[in-house]
Amino acid sequence: MMEEKKQTFDANEAALLVEELNESFRTGKTKSYEWRVSQLKGIEKMVVEREKDICEALYKDLSKPEYEAFISEIAMVKSSCEEALKELKQWMKPEKAKTSMATYPSSAEIVSEPLGAVLVISTWNYPFSLSVKPVIGAITAGNAVVLKPSEIAPATSSLLSKLFEEYLDRSAVRVVEGGVLETTALLDQKWDKIFYTGSPRVGRIVMTAAAKHLTPVVLELGGKCPAVIDSDVDLQVTVRRIIAGKWQLNNGQACISVDYIITTKEFAPKLIDALRKGIEEFFGTDPMESKDISCIVSSNHFSRLESLMDDYKVFNKIVVGGQRNQKKLKIAPTIFLDVPGDSQLMQEEIFGPLLPIITVENVKDSIDLINSKPKPLTAYLFTNNEKLKNNFVQSVSSGGMVINDTVLHVTVSSLPFGGVGESGMGSYHGKFSFDAFSHKKAVLYRSFSGDASVRYPPYTPEKQKL
Ligand code: NAD
Repeated sequence: MMEEKKQTFDANEAALLVEELNESFRTGKTKSYEWRVSQLKGIEKMVVEREKDICEALYKDLSKPEYEAFISEIAMVKSSCEEALKELKQWMKPEKAKTSMATYPSSAEIVSEPLGAVLVISTWNYPFSLSVKPVIGAITAGNAVVLKPSEIAPATSSLLSKLFEEYLDRSAVRVVEGGVLETTALLDQKWDKIFYTGSPRVGRIVMTAAAKHLTPVVLELGGKCPAVIDSDVDLQVTVRRIIAGKWQLNNGQACISVDYIITTKEFAPKLIDALRKGIEEFFGTDPMESKDISCIVSSNHFSRLESLMDDYKVFNKIVVGGQRNQKKLKIAPTIFLDVPGDSQLMQEEIFGPLLPIITVENVKDSIDLINSKPKPLTAYLFTNNEKLKNNFVQSVSSGGMVINDTVLHVTVSSLPFGGVGESGMGSYHGKFSFDAFSHKKAVLYRSFSGDASVRYPPYTPEKQKL
């Protein structure tokens, strides 16, 4: 029998917490440049001083190799802090706006103002960076913020709770730990913004709860990210980048990981051969023994992936890998060829080390295939063909897109990161994070001169002639 989880934080406590944060916000302290800087510096200090603890927690939760933890979690947070500290003054400045003849003489500006008390709900696959990066956005924009990390990465969640108390201003920046019950208690409250990272299923729950209070949301969701591989490519580079974008990253447990490949029937055997060799080069002849590959996060997720592999529609389609070990929660990089479109493998986001390859007669057909599915978070294309590149960019709708590489767009903070349609709404990173947590207030300045009577009643025939 499943043990029932005890609720550690209820709606009454959530209401008190929101009230406390709103009170802090009302004092105006979170709005000041100095407060924002002090909190960003606190995060920077926390990351530098506690790097070892963070790596250990990530290893406990995901067996994340230390090097990977550093590049994809710690360095990402550090660089977000550095950028925010460098640019904050500029971001906070009102933006001049053009005025119209109707307001002459006047001036106008767009003032970025904080929203109030905001909620960040995070997920388990990058449990440190996907928790702290949105919090950085909330702080740079001058909000009070509550972070709810994922209970599926418990070591990181508990560490975040401890570190935030130690390094940040608890009157305006807090962590609430817990799972569904605790998140539900938080979602019952009136927030000024909710920033959610996770599955589209829970994204709907979040949006429904937010609608009750007319709370705006950013939903960073997932989906099936396709990679189209043309035959006109540098095959060795392509394969290394596909492997990096699939198995190097958390063993496929990443929202922007390559979910499936589309290539031509003719090119598939050559591609599979190169992928097999590339996997061996990266992870050795027995990838189950490799220390450079993460395990599956939990037994529930392991069972989910096992059932995708054992589906009678696909189990005899494995062309590379297939090994698994339930005790160690390990699954080897596994490639399937020509799985049917109605198999579970092609119906749901895989979020693991399984990689189906779908073949088409002509690479151009891949565009219709992608567009027949919900809009992905990212779409990848490998080709030297300029016409195909242009056509892909113009015709495929996705949150983001990378041509001739995978996943690196997340490192470019001048690009917005977010989904479209089923893969989410809103975006963040760099200045986009500041904007996601700000209200853009339109301010028009007039003087008492230029008060033309033509705009006022009575609407005399003379005035109407003008
Ligand atoms: P999840 O939706 O199960 O959980 C995420 C958060 O939602 C957790 O904090 C959890 O406590 C909370 N939650 C879960 N069920 C809930 C419920 N019924 N009511 C209220 N809150 C609930 O997602 P996950 O399994 O943690 O993450 C996997 C998904 O997240 C994938 O779809 C992946 O693509 C997506 N993802 C997206 C991004 C992105 O940046 N777009 C990044 C990472 C993961």
